[in-house]
Amino acid sequence: MPLKTVRDVDVTGRRVLVRVDFNVPLSPDGEITDDTRIRAALPTIRYLVDQGARVVLCSHLGRPKGKVDPRYSLKPCAVRLGQLIGREVRIAEDVTGPSARALGARLRNGDVMLLENLRFDPREEANDPGFARELADLADLYVNDAFGTAHRAHASTAGVAAYLPAVAGFLLQKEVDVMGKALANPDRPFLAILGGAKVSDKIGVIENLLGKVDRLLIGGGMANTFLRALGHGTGKSLVEEDKVDQARKLLEKAKERGVDLWLPEDLVVATALDPNAEHRIVKKEEIPDGWMAVDIGPDTARRFAGAIRQSMTVVWNGPMGVFEVEPFSRGTFAVAEAVAGSPGLTIVGGGDSVAAVHAAGVADRITHISTGGGATLEFLEGRELPGVAVLETKPDVTPPAG
Ligand code: ADP
Ligand code: MG
Repeated sequence: MPLKTVRDVDVTGRRVLVRVDFNVPLSPDGEITDDTRIRAALPTIRYLVDQGARVVLCSHLGRPKGKVDPRYSLKPCAVRLGQLIGREVRIAEDVTGPSARALGARLRNGDVMLLENLRFDPREEANDPGFARELADLADLYVNDAFGTAHRAHASTAGVAAYLPAVAGFLLQKEVDVMGKALANPDRPFLAILGGAKVSDKIGVIENLLGKVDRLLIGGGMANTFLRALGHGTGKSLVEEDKVDQARKLLEKAKERGVDLWLPEDLVVATALDPNAEHRIVKKEEIPDGWMAVDIGPDTARRFAGAIRQSMTVVWNGPMGVFEVEPFSRGTFAVAEAVAGSPGLTIVGGGDSVAAVHAAGVADRITHISTGGGATLEFLEGRELPGVAVLETKPDVTPPAG
């Protein structure tokens, strides 16, 4: 059922606690090197400001392990957010202590403040009810807009909802709506592309998608374990020996389900993971001893691209090769280009896959670029995310059939 959002509740004059994901990368001297995550939260923050809400933002940053550590202060994020929204964003000296309470009490309609790093308090990750209560006491309404941590049951992502009405921000809503639509009610043909380093990271995703897609394309390092399951030699390619049996079972499951599962037919193999290493193209049965598969080959890339362009729903997670090394990036970029050119709903998730889509210069032609790493994978596994499960849903307005 669709989530209730900030649009479905009255926020004017109310104190609204918004869980955002400001876990931005910082340089050694504390400069924000990429503010994408702050920008991603702007639609919700701007909406609340425009409606005259009193906005109390909270986030984690890095892994301070439950202790106050100035290296992980959210102060730089308060400054950057202030520049982006053109108004002062005050930051508390503590998380739920006297400073936070005092700043909160002084908020006027349309004001924005930020709590210090939630993970300065060990009770955050422990999902401590007392801490959740202290967070809740700062507000009248709770909004979760941090999709990237929605797979964690922490005080600020789950516990707090026990004490306040809880609704979704726009970023989280879009993630759940778009990916939920793809999994529950996809336009067909529905195709998924999975790659990346290891099968073990993605077994749950493969299993869940096998029950939903019409076609599954597998590339990247994980394809090697499948090639081994088919009995092929894989040289010194990355292979998970202990997952070969599981790969064989997944191949059987695909057959039973009538899912068209494609593995690479040709591969780029190299002698080392080095841009100057000797490399060449071989058929999948012919990986030489001492060589490793580092990319899908050109025939496979063409075949994959053709299938992608004929699909109405495409979900992609995991690069097709070691795309960080220029000579081995072609397969991944060809897939990125094809996904961008696909006519229907296109979704890309996963830190490295999203980086690849940006490097290929096609990000603006993808329907939805998911902001979650682990959260996106768990969503694609079909698991219920704790940070989503606690949010209120809209009453079902579907008219009765007939
Ligand atoms: P994502 O972050 O999109 O979920 P992963 O983290 O699972 O993707 O995988 C990305 C990594 O997989 C990249 O660092 C890439 O170099 C690596 N990779 C892809 N193909 C291969 C391969 N054939 N051999 C070794 N590593 C690979
Ligand atoms: Mg990754």
